[in-house]
Amino acid sequence: MPSKEDLKRQVCESIERRADALIGIGETIRHQPELGFKEFKTAALVAKTFEEIKVPHRTGLACTGVKAELNGAKAGPTLALIGELDALVVSGHPLADPLTGAAHACGHNAQVTAVLGATWGLVDTGAMRHLAGRIVPFAVPAEEYGDIAWRLEQVRAGQLEFLGGKPELIRHGHFDDVDMALLIHTSSRAEDKSAGVAVSNNGCVVKTVRYIGRAAHAGSSPHLGINALYAANLALSAINALRETFQERDTIRVHPVITQGGRQVNVIPGEVHLETYVRGKSVEAIMDANAKVDRALRAGALAMGAQVEITTLPGYMPLSNHPELAKVFRRNAEALVGAERYAVQGHRTGSTDMGDISQIMPAVQGYMSGASGTGHGADFMITDTRFAYVAQAQVLATTAIDLLYGDAEAAREVLRDYKAPMTRAQYLAFQRGINKTEVFDGAA
Ligand SMILES: [Zn+2]
Ligand SMILES: [Zn+2]
Repeated sequence: MPSKEDLKRQVCESIERRADALIGIGETIRHQPELGFKEFKTAALVAKTFEEIKVPHRTGLACTGVKAELNGAKAGPTLALIGELDALVVSGHPLADPLTGAAHACGHNAQVTAVLGATWGLVDTGAMRHLAGRIVPFAVPAEEYGDIAWRLEQVRAGQLEFLGGKPELIRHGHFDDVDMALLIHTSSRAEDKSAGVAVSNNGCVVKTVRYIGRAAHAGSSPHLGINALYAANLALSAINALRETFQERDTIRVHPVITQGGRQVNVIPGEVHLETYVRGKSVEAIMDANAKVDRALRAGALAMGAQVEITTLPGYMPLSNHPELAKVFRRNAEALVGAERYAVQGHRTGSTDMGDISQIMPAVQGYMSGASGTGHGADFMITDTRFAYVAQAQVLATTAIDLLYGDAEAAREVLRDYKAPMTRAQYLAFQRGINKTEVFDGAA
């Protein structure tokens, strides 16, 4: 039996031998960006790769998820290696799909590629013979919480309940046989260095807002109209005025967009749509800010005598990276990049549904470099394909070996005194409890 370090070395060498193919996959996905729950081409590529290396897998989970399974020599904990399939709409991105506007401006193409690379390395070397438990390479849909109108149609059609991929997978029980989860996200930020883990991330709720006014001739009889756009504008001003009441420690982020601002210029807008997140560090902080945002939204309707329909949707839970699991990731990331290139980070203000996973099991979302530009920006690019696709795969694989080698002592150590903040049933009940629609009539 090879030592743990020998096994890691063999797997890294094996992934290295697959480098050209991995870079090819990563770049293929980068050039075919697809929106969440519609990642059909990407999911097919993942499934095809699993087929080629004869790894059992299931497809079509929560629309497009692909879940594979590698069994160790004996029983033990199950570790999921997660890669997100989706892109998002970013105006002006040079690789944006001309029809959908989708672009891989968050680097998820590298995540999926790294999961495939890690699987390849583990299979090629027969590494599972020396591990206990199971590894679940898991390509998951729809981390980016957008395209909301389409997703709500799927909810009405009974295809979805939640609007994010991992909440849907949890709802369907696809994480029921998983004990811990690891994901590596590509970063373009210099302060993230070559690799690192944050302590935590913001959670969020998501809101859709509909102002109903009254259409009228914008030239001859504006006095007969109720301008829904002005109601919305007043609400946006009120939200901005409330920012001074948000406290630094809560890291609140509210960033509304107008998704329908009026249909014809010579008509007083009779209906205007907004969407926003309300993000924060804790559930309490999010709900407190959310109540203020609701007040601001009503204020716009009140001023204009319009109606407003405010729907609050479950978003993502705050992410709390598991410290013990993070240590194992760190050990393996540092082995590759060097201790001086490893960043110990605090709290991050983005949100992810890895937060939801972290509520029900030990989870880590690590970061590794390989990209440049601004995350979610038109200039976000994978610039170091070798690092983004190959090195990420190596760190996923070596971290997995570290956890499950022998009798999976390290994984058992992570689980020893662990108590999840929520059971799966509590998590689902909590998220369902967020769902709420309120109609406020400013003319009443
Ligand atoms: Zn993103
Ligand atoms: Zn992302």
